[in-house]
Formats: sequence, C-alpha cells, structure tokens
Amino acid sequence: MNHLPNFQQQAQEIFDDLVRVRRELHQYPELGFEEHRTSSLVAETLQKLGYEVQRGIAQTGVIGLLEGRQPGPTVMLRFDMDALPIQEMGHSSYSSKTSGVMHACGHDGHVSMGLGLARILADYQEQMTGTLKLVFQPAEEGLGGAFAMIADGVLDAPRPDVVFAMHLWSGVPYGKIRTAVGPTMAASSVFTLTVQGKGGHGAAPHESIDPILAAAHIVTALQSIVSRNVDPQESVVVTVGQMSAGTTFNVIPDHAILKGTVRSYNNEIHHIIYRRILEMARSVSTAFRCSAMMETIAIVPAVVNAVEPTEVVNQAARLVVGSENLIHSREMASEDMGYILEEIPGCYFFIGAGNEERGLTFPHHHPQFDFEERAMVNGVATMAYAAANYLLKTR
Ligand SMILES: [Zn+2]
Ligand SMILES: [Zn+2]
Repeated sequence: MNHLPNFQQQAQEIFDDLVRVRRELHQYPELGFEEHRTSSLVAETLQKLGYEVQRGIAQTGVIGLLEGRQPGPTVMLRFDMDALPIQEMGHSSYSSKTSGVMHACGHDGHVSMGLGLARILADYQEQMTGTLKLVFQPAEEGLGGAFAMIADGVLDAPRPDVVFAMHLWSGVPYGKIRTAVGPTMAASSVFTLTVQGKGGHGAAPHESIDPILAAAHIVTALQSIVSRNVDPQESVVVTVGQMSAGTTFNVIPDHAILKGTVRSYNNEIHHIIYRRILEMARSVSTAFRCSAMMETIAIVPAVVNAVEPTEVVNQAARLVVGSENLIHSREMASEDMGYILEEIPGCYFFIGAGNEERGLTFPHHHPQFDFEERAMVNGVATMAYAAANYLLKTR
C-alpha cells in the first residue's frame, strides 16, 4: 500500500464536512424503511459526485456505482442509515428534533462516512481498475434491511467480489480499530414460549394447572443449556428477557409467556440450542401438567469475516492508527451484515469511538449515546485504504 494516496490526510481535510453531515442527520433521525430524507440526501450527493445512482432498493436503499477506466474487481462498501425508537436524553446542540426517534447506534456517522468516502474516492475514477459500489442500507436495527436489499438484487449486476462495512463503536476507545478473522458478531434469534395451563382461583390451586410455576422452572432449566450442552470452547448466550403471566394476585392465569434471545457464533450450535430449549420447555411443562409451544423468529446469521479482506483491513488500520492500536476481539451483539457476508467474502470491523474524558462512553442504543466524531476520520481513511487495495493497484 506504499504508493497509495495519503487518505488519512484527505479524511482529515473533510472532517468539518463529516461532522456537519453527521449532525444534520442526527437531528432528523428516521426509523427502518422510513429513511426518506436520509436516502434523498445520499442520492443527491452521490449524483453530484458523478456516481450512477439507483434508488428504492428495499424501499429507501441507495446504490452508487463508480466505474473505473480499467476493468477489475467490484468492491462494495456498505453503510446503514436507520435510527432507533428511543427518546434522546442528551443535550447536544444537534439533538434529535423528532420525538421518540434517535440515532442511538451511530448510523448517522456511518452515512456521513459513506458520503465522505464517496467524495474522496470519486477523484480517483481515472486511475481505478474495477468498480466501486457504495450501498446505503435501510433498516439494520432488527428489521432485516440487508436481507430485503439482497432480495432486491443489491448483490447482482455487478456482483461484488469483496465487501466491507464498519461500525463506530463506543465500547472501543477512540484511536483504536478492532477486527477479527472468522466470526466477529453473533448469530441471533428470538423465541417465544407459551406455557399453557388452566386458569382458576388462587385459593384453589388444586383445581387449576399453574403455568407460572411451570414457566419459572423452565427459566431455571434453560440456564443449564450453556453450561451442559455446549462445548465450553464456544461462546453462547441464552437470555430470557421477558416473562409475562397473570393479571392480579388471586387468580391463577391460563397461560404464561417467556420471550428470549439466543446468540452464538455458529449456526449449527444455534440449532442444537433450540432443540434443547424445546425439549426442556416441553418436558418441564409436562412434569407440571402444562403444555408448551415455541415460536422462533429471524435468525440473523453470524457476521463471519474472510481471511484475506480482514488482512487488507488490518494493513489499512495499521497505516491509520498504528499497529499498537489495532486490536482483535469479538462481539456478542448481532448485525444483518451476516446475510451479506454469507454470500460475498469481506470484512466487518469496528472503529473505536468512545472517549472517557468527554463522557462518550454510553453503550449503543442508550438514550444518551454519542460518539467521538474524530473517529469518523479513522473510519474514512481505513475504508479508503481497504477499497484502494483492490481498485488502485499500483503497477
Ligand atoms: Zn444498533
Ligand atoms: Zn448499529
């Protein structure tokens, strides 16, 4: 990468613009599949920069294509655009102007970085070997935006040879970049267990079948899956996050509902866990004369990074933050980028955006979440080097 342009300097030069766009987006956050304003801003900017623009992919998604003068690989860079249904509690000058909606995950920064990259890389069209495919995705937050975009053909014509995406991350200090080969974020799914009993008077429990008692035993039994059914070398989470039953103190309810989530790095283990959840729910229910039914939804696959593209990002990150600031670990959260990486080799990585001194340490999805904006410079520069590794081959 020695003969590549100085992308770090170029990213630094557009810092004010990165901040301006990010803060503008932050004030007007939009929920998944409703990113109309954001999508228009993206499309207009790309058009002005000379990109061939396609709109309306999975409703609000935008693709910007920049074809180099010489043939070569297609490099896809993906940025998510959606906000969350959270009431912002921060007091910045750029707080959300939309009540109940907030960019609490940093996707405002992602869009801004994407447009910054569009601007920087457009200057290299003449020298480019191959095609740059910028993808701005709707609805990353649990609504399956990546899946919808794939269904709408985002990975066709031209089909990317490699794909990159990044997340600003408040859990990683500003100045650091985090990557991992192989699984980097978990496969995720949710389940609902309905435990059916027979309602009755709280003072005559022998005449009813108590689903609360059975549900409580199920919650306890589920805790053994991770410790007894999964290889200790694997990372797995089984969480029951909601338990609801009954309406008042002296009535045994008819049924109880448990809702939870499963996380793992391995889709096969995911299936083993679900088999055990169902076995336990059914047999514990039977023991208490209840019955159990399970529904599962939306298994987002694990985000799995390929070896070569990850090494490309590592090299890029070393140029930007130095090898001492390149760290490697994984995350139990999930991301619908997993769908894309199942089809195209690539790398999903994290740009450190936390800053303890400035109080920028709230976790993602917190109503006071904010990030160190200088991190956007690191993100743009790293992504530019990674893309240039494929598109600006120096001969
Ligand atoms: Zn999020
Ligand atoms: Zn996010």
